[in-house]
Amino acid sequence: MSFKNIAVVGTGYVGLVTGVALSDIGHSVTCVDIDEQKVELMQSGVSPIYEPGLSELMTKNIKAGRLSFTTKHQQAFAGADAIYIAVGTPQKEDGTADLRFIEAVADHIAEHLTHYAVVVTKSTVPVGTNDYIKSYIDKHTDVPFAVVSNPEFLREGSAVHDTFHGDRIVIGADSVVAGDLIEEINKPFGIPVFRTDIRSAEMIKYASNAFLATKISFVNEIANLCEKLNANVDDVARGMGQDKRIGNKFLNAGIGYGGSCFPKDTSALVQIAGNVEHEFTLLKAVIEVNYKQQRLLVEKAREHFGSLRGKTIAMLGLAFKPNTDDMREAASIILAQELILAGARVVAYDPIAMENARNVLPAAVDYADSAFAAIQGADTAFVVTEWDEICALTPGDFKANLKEPVVFDGRNCFNIETMKEAGLNYYSVGRPVVK
Ligand code: NAD
Repeated sequence: MSFKNIAVVGTGYVGLVTGVALSDIGHSVTCVDIDEQKVELMQSGVSPIYEPGLSELMTKNIKAGRLSFTTKHQQAFAGADAIYIAVGTPQKEDGTADLRFIEAVADHIAEHLTHYAVVVTKSTVPVGTNDYIKSYIDKHTDVPFAVVSNPEFLREGSAVHDTFHGDRIVIGADSVVAGDLIEEINKPFGIPVFRTDIRSAEMIKYASNAFLATKISFVNEIANLCEKLNANVDDVARGMGQDKRIGNKFLNAGIGYGGSCFPKDTSALVQIAGNVEHEFTLLKAVIEVNYKQQRLLVEKAREHFGSLRGKTIAMLGLAFKPNTDDMREAASIILAQELILAGARVVAYDPIAMENARNVLPAAVDYADSAFAAIQGADTAFVVTEWDEICALTPGDFKANLKEPVVFDGRNCFNIETMKEAGLNYYSVGRPVVK
C-alpha cells in the first residue's frame, strides 16, 4: 500500500484523533486549526483535549515525522491527496445545524486547492450538505476535486480505541475512484468498510445517533415506570439485554444523555425531517424524555427536602460522561442552574473537567479538590457522572461526611443493599428507594 499525504481541518475531538490515528498507520498528516493557542500546544507535543492514550500517540508520530500542525490552510493542503473536514457543526437556536465552519473550510479549499484532491467530510452534516459543499467549491475554483462523506462514530472518552477498533467505516461516494482512495487510506485499520452513496452515508450518521438516543430515552422511561411499579430497572435492562435482538448496550438508566452529539444531532434530524414536511414524532418524544430526565435529581431532592434553600449539595462529576473533559450539554449544567435558582449552594467536583466546567457552570458554584472533599460537610450528594473515583466512594464515606445521610444517584453507581446496610437514604433511577 502507498501512504498518502493528508490534511485534516479542525483539531477537536474528531479531527485531532483522526489526524493522529492516520499518521500512526503510516500516512503523512498535517492538521490545521484556526485556534493559534491550540496549534502552539500541539506543535510542542501537548494535546489540547483529554482523551485516554492520545498524548502518547501524538508524541510518537510527531517524533516519527509523520504528524505536524499549522494554522495555515495553504500549507496543509499543499500536496494533499485527501483533505478531511472535521470542524464543528453546532446547533443553532432553531435546532438546525450551523454550517458556518463548514462553509469557511470550503472557502479555504476553493482558494488554496492547486491539484486534484478528495475532500472528505468527517463532520456530522445534514443530508445534502456534501452536495452543497461540492457545488460551493466548484463555483470558486477550476481545479478538479471529489467529495466523499466519511462520518465519524468515535465516542469521547474512548476515541483512540474506537478509531482503531470501530465496528465499521462508512464511505459515501458518488465517484468510485474517490471512494476507493478513502478505502485504501483506511485499509491498515482493518475495520470493515461499508460503501454507499453520499446522502445515505450522511443519513447513517444521524440515524445511528438518533437510534442510540432513542434507546437511552426508552430505558429511562422504563426506569420511571419501574419506580412507580416497584420493579428494578437494573434487572429489567439485564433481562431485556440478553435478547440478542435488543442487545445489552445503551440500556443503563440514568439522568439522560448529553455531550456534543446526541442533543444537537437529534434536534437537527427533527429539523431535517421538518424541511421535507415529515413530522418525526418518535424523535421529538425522545428529546422530550431526555429534557425531563436531566432534571430528575432536583425533582427527587425537592420531594425529599421540601425546600432546597440553604442546602449544600455536593455535585459529584461534571463532564457529560466519564473519561472526558467535555462539558457540552452536560446534565451538571442544568442541575447546577436549577439548584442555585432554588437557593442551594453547590460544591462541585470532577476529576478532569473542572477547568472547562468553570466556564459554563453558574458563577456561584464552589469547587472541591476531590470527591471526598466535596461531600465533607455537604447536606447531601448528587452523583452526576460515573467516574471511577466517584463510584469508589463507599457508603461509609457518605454516612460519615454528609450532614444528612441522603444520596441522589443519577447514574446508579451504588449497590442498593450496601447503601441500606450503611443506614443511608438512597435515591437512584428506576430502582427501589432505600429509606
Ligand atoms: P470541536 O468543536 O471539538 O473541534 C472543532 C475544531 O475545528 C476546533 O478546534 C476549531 O478551532 C476548529 N476550526 C473551526 N473552524 C476552522 C477552520 N476554518 N479551519 C480550521 N479549523 C477550524 O468539534 P468535534 O467535537 O471534534 O466535532 C467535529 C465534528 O465531528 C462535528 O460535526 C461533530 O458533530 C462530529 N462528531 C463529533 C464527535 C464527538 O464525539 N465529539 C463524534 C462523532 C462526530
